[in-house]
Amino acid sequence: ARAAARCGPGAVMGSKNLKAIAVRGDRGIQVADKAALQGAAEEAVGAILGDPLYESAKTYGTLAITPLAQALGFLPTRNFQESTFEGAEKLRGEVFMEKYATKHKGCYNCPVACSRFYEVSEGPYAATRGEGPEYESVSALGSKCGNDNFAAILHANTLCNQLGMDTISTGNTLAWVMECREKNILTQDQLDGLDLRFGNDAAMIELIKKMAAREGIGDILAEGACRAAQKMGGADRVVHSKGLDYPAVDIRGTKGMALSFAVSPRGGDHLKGLSLYEVAPDIYAQDIREETGINVTPHYWLQYETKAVLMRWHENWHCVVDSLGLCKLEGIALKPLLPKHFQRMLAAATGWQIPVNELELIGERIWNLERLFNAREGMRKEDDLPPRRLFEEPIATGPAQGERLDRKRYEQMLTEYYRLRGWAPDTGIPTSEKCRELSLD
Ligand code: SF4
Repeated sequence: ARAAARCGPGAVMGSKNLKAIAVRGDRGIQVADKAALQGAAEEAVGAILGDPLYESAKTYGTLAITPLAQALGFLPTRNFQESTFEGAEKLRGEVFMEKYATKHKGCYNCPVACSRFYEVSEGPYAATRGEGPEYESVSALGSKCGNDNFAAILHANTLCNQLGMDTISTGNTLAWVMECREKNILTQDQLDGLDLRFGNDAAMIELIKKMAAREGIGDILAEGACRAAQKMGGADRVVHSKGLDYPAVDIRGTKGMALSFAVSPRGGDHLKGLSLYEVAPDIYAQDIREETGINVTPHYWLQYETKAVLMRWHENWHCVVDSLGLCKLEGIALKPLLPKHFQRMLAAATGWQIPVNELELIGERIWNLERLFNAREGMRKEDDLPPRRLFEEPIATGPAQGERLDRKRYEQMLTEYYRLRGWAPDTGIPTSEKCRELSLD
């Protein structure tokens, strides 16, 4: 099983004394037009099966991203100090399938079945069993921590799921501790004697257990790197926006996702604007042009231009996909389904004939509502900036060598994004005209 731990829903439930929600129905599911829904579903499945990346998604799930991240130079390594990992070959999907996967797992009737069950059969982590892991978890508990021991990553992944911990924030907290240890911001004594050098998987496992039990140093680190840094120092080493740790993308080499992670309402979040279009532009050039009007250029992921347009489009459709209850992997984040597929499935299921442009407007309304919520809580333009270190520290090696965020060009991209969104340029708050236009006044 997997813990739905990202962003702390368990803490929200705990604050309400809520242990669980169990839902059971016995009335079946009514649809407006069964034949049309069957046709729309077959069309969607056809698009999935015809996608150029279908075979790799089916075989490796999101682990197919690891070699792409390494090749383009956006695989966060040793707490975002580097963007390629010398141990990346050991973390490929092929290695996982050969040594650890026991069988595929998928959601009901999904033609991709992107997940797998796993088991470690030998070594210190023998008898570890679990489900997954996603690329995000492999990077968080692997490359970000300088750890190329796949069995240890699987053990940590299983532990996190059993303990209800988010693998991304857990991995980022460990990686932050390791960098602080390396730079003598934290001493081994402060870390209860644990030798938390990059790559020490045994110490990582011990620290995860301490965090879950809130034992010793684990009590402070259980709050996450952001809050721990306020007490212990090293705040400039935490890679986050709005308090949420960054996912497995080094945004110095992907300028659109730099914008996306920084403006996301939940903070550093890959599920609000993640764009396969940005990192696989050659494969999807025609779709990108037809959907957004953008003509991609060579090394598109390194460009600032047109990213405000691209991310605005993704964000709106991410909101629609979330509202429809569809999968993000085969939804809009990683292609291959397009707005026309969502429109047809919704119309057939509900009878609502909503044109594609109005569906996107619904997504835009949701995005603005979330923005207004954050504005009410005091968030402003300064909260839409990536961490300072990613502006100041260029990538030292690999295909993205020399890349960092350029402050002036980032500001221009953000200004363009606010303009497209209809938000005030000095605060980032939706204007009254925009609120009226979206019936949010
Ligand atoms: S619906 Fe999505 S998450 Fe579920 S198996 Fe299919 S691709 Fe994977």
